[in-house]
Amino acid sequence: MREIGHFIGGKEMKGGSGRFGDVFNPNTGEVQAKVAFANRAEMERAIANAAAAQPEWAATNPQRRARVMFKFLELVAKDGENLAKLLSCEHGKTIPDARGDIQRGVEVVEFACGIPHLLKGEFSEGAGPNIDLYSLRQPLGVVAGITPFNFPAMIPLWKCAPALACGNAFILKPSERDPSVPMRIAELFLEAGLPAGVLNVVNGDKEAVDTLLTDPRVRAIGFVGSSSIAEYIYATGCAHGKRVQCFGGAKNHMIVMPDADMDQAVDALIGAGYGSAGERCMAVSVAVPVGKKTADILMEKLIPRVENLKIGPSSDAQADYGPLVTRAHLNKVKDYVELGIKEGAKLAVDGRNFKLQGYENGNFMGGCLFDEVKPSMRIYKEEIFGPVLSVVRAKDYAEALRLPSEHDYGNGVAIFTRDGDTARDFTSRVEVGMVGVNVPIPVPLAYYTFGGWKRSGFGDLNQHGADSVRFYTKTKTVTSRWPSGTKEGAEFVIPTMK
Ligand code: NAD
Repeated sequence: MREIGHFIGGKEMKGGSGRFGDVFNPNTGEVQAKVAFANRAEMERAIANAAAAQPEWAATNPQRRARVMFKFLELVAKDGENLAKLLSCEHGKTIPDARGDIQRGVEVVEFACGIPHLLKGEFSEGAGPNIDLYSLRQPLGVVAGITPFNFPAMIPLWKCAPALACGNAFILKPSERDPSVPMRIAELFLEAGLPAGVLNVVNGDKEAVDTLLTDPRVRAIGFVGSSSIAEYIYATGCAHGKRVQCFGGAKNHMIVMPDADMDQAVDALIGAGYGSAGERCMAVSVAVPVGKKTADILMEKLIPRVENLKIGPSSDAQADYGPLVTRAHLNKVKDYVELGIKEGAKLAVDGRNFKLQGYENGNFMGGCLFDEVKPSMRIYKEEIFGPVLSVVRAKDYAEALRLPSEHDYGNGVAIFTRDGDTARDFTSRVEVGMVGVNVPIPVPLAYYTFGGWKRSGFGDLNQHGADSVRFYTKTKTVTSRWPSGTKEGAEFVIPTMK
């Protein structure tokens, strides 16, 4: 059985704790590898390696650090297909979708290539008598990222690329469910010229994470995953004096106004609701048609589309989506469907009994569609993270605006309409971090920032874009007088600019 260890100090290392997790092939349900779970001592070794390598990396000028990023891009372009296959067979997303996962990560590496420009501080000449005032952005030191299973290339790259470009050393604790791509990313960075020890990948569970949260050498932690763990990591990391940003779960609504192009809206709901088997933090899991007529047309168009979704093995490039990540997760999603029926929602399409010939033990599930879901139901309040779309009928625009705004989660939201006034009003008033207008998955591009509100995001700064540079650096402000010989005598009153 293949064993996946850790990547510490530029070398792959076997796990030494004696604890392992199973890495499944979601297509067949078989265990395809064992991943090592690091103990405290192994994580501490990675932190020590990172701390030793960081000062020289920080002293490497930003243009040289950018060259490592450029080289990494070349290597990923060459290795892209292998990476996509590796990703797809551990996660279960189709190969075209796996390529998208890698590409979205690559775009943040492209952003990080601009680091010489991004790190420029401010300068005010003659701010006082012979005094210049300027600011510097300096790396934090050793920083860490803890990432989820659903984007095993994109999110590790969102975390590590800006952090490394800023001059930090990085420790990645990826998801134990699909750790191979993160390990490969570390190898490629080393091949691209990143000094050994600057990027370490340590696999594991709570013990590894808790070591990162409590070790004083780790200055900042970026987390992406479910909200309950996000909250724990935010509270514990902050209590230990670290800078922390945590991105959690979601319940993304798509409002369909009566004037929307219904075919476009249905296409959007099918792609954003069921793509990647709904295992995306920006998946649309709630459709909100406004008015009875809109809801009836939407249901009439949606039902046959959901019934005819093409579900296949992750290697089938023609499939709409592949298997769910694990059997345990599949069962959890099916339990939510059962719960929805008990709560009184109307199950218009039931995909629970779907079986794929030749892959009977795979984690496959057909699309499910609920109508008449009410805000009081748990299937509305909680994140399901599967191919299940809930339709909540709103009587008017005011109610449609209230639903996502009052929901505990606030990651993404979309409105489909042909009316500019409504779109603008919605964009301005909705209490959600990322908004799409006639765009179902409004994931901002690398040079804007990504982050949700309420229980979808903990901390002040977002991921990628300008916020990533702010998060991974500290600002130093320098007040400097030249020529130095000016004699003004001792000043006992606070200097002002009167
Ligand atoms: P998860 O919370 O189970 O795991 C995330 C990470 O936390 C993993 O590395 C895991 O090993 C670690 N972890 C798990 N339990 C822990 C514990 N008790 N103590 C310390 N660490 C622990 O999430 P997941 O199932 O891998 O990913 C899916 C979740 O991630 C969904 O809720 C999804 O919405 C969310 N997500 C959010 C975003 C976003 O940007 N908001 C993006 C992608 C995924």
